[in-house]
Amino acid sequence: MQIKDAHLTFRDYDFKPNEPGYIIIHHAAAIKCTADAIHEWHLKRGWKGAAYQYFIDKKGIVWRMRQDHWNGGHVKGSLNRNSIGICCEGNYETETEMPTAQLTSLVQLVSFKMAEYNIPIDKVTPHKYHADTSCPGKNFPWIDFKSMTFNPIKQFQEEYGLKVDGIVGKRTIAKVLKLIQIIHTAREALKGERDGFNGSNEVHK
Ligand SMILES: [Zn+2]
Repeated sequence: MQIKDAHLTFRDYDFKPNEPGYIIIHHAAAIKCTADAIHEWHLKRGWKGAAYQYFIDKKGIVWRMRQDHWNGGHVKGSLNRNSIGICCEGNYETETEMPTAQLTSLVQLVSFKMAEYNIPIDKVTPHKYHADTSCPGKNFPWIDFKSMTFNPIKQFQEEYGLKVDGIVGKRTIAKVLKLIQIIHTAREALKGERDGFNGSNEVHK
């Protein structure tokens, strides 16, 4: 993933502090656009400039628009001081395919920001979750995006020092079986102890 600075000049730099607790995903609602174009559109609306922290084009290049610690202007109210706003080039209300390069960069950027700010997966939300909008569009590959970003298999692999690829291969299966064996052994070992006591089940017999 490549992050480039869009080098935008904002109307003013009187930003409020932003403490990211959410990651909010948008589409540009424009099939073709650039970070500069979005900046111009938002300036014309009388805003400071581009409302999002990041823009991801269809080639998968990530453009930094606002600094993470600057408030955004992409959602309603105080959430702008508690989130990272990411806008994807395209109109996924009408377009049905998100380019792989774009989706891959989105997954990487979101994973990176989740780790940086300790943001849980349930706080990664589409714009429409917070407002009466269809953004990021009905065809946005939300399920793919979420499952690529939050993959319990990958998490398991990471925790147990395996190659983190999300694929349940021989090594991952071997690790799972070993864990099951350990649990089984531990339970067997405890069985004898349990039988020696008057457990709650026995009291009522
Ligand atoms: Zn939006």
